[in-house]
Amino acid sequence: MESAKEIWKAALGKLQIQVSKANYTTWLSNSQGLSYKDNVFVVGVANVFVAEWLSKRLYPLVRKTLVDIVGDDAEVQFVVGNGEQLRAGPAASQTDGGTSTLAVRYRFNPKYTFDNFVVSDSNRLAYAAAVEVCECPADSYNPLFIHSSTGQGKTHLLHAIGHLTENNGLQAIYTTAEQFANEFVLAVREKQVDAFRSKFRSIHVFLFDDVHFLIDKKQTLQCFFHIFNELYNNNRQIVITGDCAPKDMQPLSSKLKSRLEGGLVTDIQPPDFETRLSILRAKADTAMTPELEGVLHIIAEKVSGNVRQLEGALVYLTAQARLSGARITPQTINKLLTSATHQQDIRLLLRVVAEHFSLSPDELTGKKRDRMTSLARHVAIYLMRERHQYPLAEIGRALGGRNHATILHGYEKVASRMSVNPDLARQIAEITEKIDARKGPKTAHQAVQNRR
Ligand code: ADP
Ligand code: MG
Repeated sequence: MESAKEIWKAALGKLQIQVSKANYTTWLSNSQGLSYKDNVFVVGVANVFVAEWLSKRLYPLVRKTLVDIVGDDAEVQFVVGNGEQLRAGPAASQTDGGTSTLAVRYRFNPKYTFDNFVVSDSNRLAYAAAVEVCECPADSYNPLFIHSSTGQGKTHLLHAIGHLTENNGLQAIYTTAEQFANEFVLAVREKQVDAFRSKFRSIHVFLFDDVHFLIDKKQTLQCFFHIFNELYNNNRQIVITGDCAPKDMQPLSSKLKSRLEGGLVTDIQPPDFETRLSILRAKADTAMTPELEGVLHIIAEKVSGNVRQLEGALVYLTAQARLSGARITPQTINKLLTSATHQQDIRLLLRVVAEHFSLSPDELTGKKRDRMTSLARHVAIYLMRERHQYPLAEIGRALGGRNHATILHGYEKVASRMSVNPDLARQIAEITEKIDARKGPKTAHQAVQNRR
């Protein structure tokens, strides 16, 4: 039982750096390792929907991750867990026993407090402003707008504000822009927009995460700004986060931009080495030993930029070391990080190839064998090999568990046809360009597109 928990913790660490942030938060963050017996690993999740989604969409990756950790073959079962913790997770709504309510009240994540936020030059202003907002809501900075690339602590700060606000006896609501958009769509469908809007009327502090998600959703944006104005005019505090400053949110009208910029706009920069090390020290939940200190140094050196990855790497490596009794060496760390980058590159490649042939990534990795799907699959194989020199076995796994021979056959087919088929060569060049373009620096708008 204990060990299932530990194993799953290690797996989550690794999965966290392999799947997209949205998928991790939605499908994995609130799961638990329940048991591991007779090569069957049971994972508890919050509801049937999550269980189904994971079984359908993430099974191969989850299984492979677990197999790597336990060093033995394993089947994975996702069950609807009855553990208390499952329901107490951040996504749990404190609502009235099952009936659908529109505004999701958030139970703030106990891990995201001001106390365990590591302050450094890269986030000092954002931190100070967040604290200030709790002390004098709607007085100093309204709205407070915090922006950064992903994994820099924006969500952490919003939750910290939520905790402190409630401790001060005031009411705070947290919502991600995505949740907000989903609920708004539902409200429109059920002709309940007024009720939806009135949910926000009585709160003191409105915490709105990842506003860039709304950039191209005109109607939802409009609703958001109605609520914004109402709260603002009633002297309520608004805190908003985004992946760039309001002025860089191109599709927004200048009127909306100036609303967002009307208080304080501050950013969080990626942490420098010293900060990364302090964060890791703070996150390592065991006593510091010289060996652990060494591990933290290596992680802080190798993983730069994103605190979420830093955490994922730490959790995975320490759990792995505890389980296997093996020492963590620079090689194990390298191996982990390389495999995480591969996963990201592969996901992008498959998405672009699928789009090019008007298929879904699932169709590409699935069983369909019509001409178009086979061609698309062969092109994906060709690109994985030409661009990245991935081993055949890895390509086979990425394509839903196909064997060496199949992969080699696909590669050779495309390689030999390229020279005699200019149209194929042109298509491959086009796809390559698209992949490169997507890998380049993201604009807020592209980021929205990619998230779909
Ligand atoms: P964002 O919302 O900017 O994408 P998150 O708030 O989700 O980032 O942070 C990702 C992870 O990194 C969280 O687990 C968070 O606790 C942690 N984190 C980020 N910055 C810090 C920090 N300065 N101190 C401690 N933990 C941090
Ligand atoms: Mg966030």
